[in-house]
Amino acid sequence: MELVVATKNKKKLAEIKQLLSDLDLEITSLADYPKAPRIIENGKTFKENAVKKAVKIARYTKKLTLGEDSGLEVNALAGAPGVRSSRFSGKDKSDLKNNRKLLHLLGGLPLKKRKARYLCSVALADQEGLVGVTEGACNGVIGFKMQGNFGFGYDPLFVIPKYKKTFAQLGGRIKHQMSHRFHALTKARSVILNYLKVNA
Ligand code: IMP
Repeated sequence: MELVVATKNKKKLAEIKQLLSDLDLEITSLADYPKAPRIIENGKTFKENAVKKAVKIARYTKKLTLGEDSGLEVNALAGAPGVRSSRFSGKDKSDLKNNRKLLHLLGGLPLKKRKARYLCSVALADQEGLVGVTEGACNGVIGFKMQGNFGFGYDPLFVIPKYKKTFAQLGGRIKHQMSHRFHALTKARSVILNYLKVNA
């Protein structure tokens, strides 16, 4: 069966593909559906955005579709950047600019005041509507400088206290066993398996 991942983010897609690689699915993405409707991510929560992506793209493709929305919440910034994680630095956004803005806003706050968490919502839908929603979280702290090259987004700043290293330094082997996306997709896997059983 085909599973459409409703994203254009290549790095996110690669992570999702790897985390679902043992399932008997042909995983495609919006790159395979260039005329798919554009999704405006204006939800107030990750869940709202994930559901919107899944339902809208499933209606268009008529295939089982996975919508994912994720981001970073920083305690000292009252949960910002939150659902605005990818566009935190404004119109000319980039991962580098987002990270620089975050560092600037946190200034010299000590490590114990730099707590943050990544959150991920995964929604599954088919042409009939929503099939299920799952969520995952991963706790960390925001470091004082960018370190490492792996991953994307805020990974060069997101320090896992247990390792005293950022996700960008730790790499996929560790990130993919403990990330917000890993936790949400592990739960989504059960929903998919159940769906495959019923709809095979
Ligand atoms: P989305 O594509 O609208 O879901 O935006 C997600 C944004 O949240 C990304 O552009 C990153 O800024 C951030 N983000 C989500 N997951 C991760 C991750 O695993 N590592 C680093 N940044 C992430």
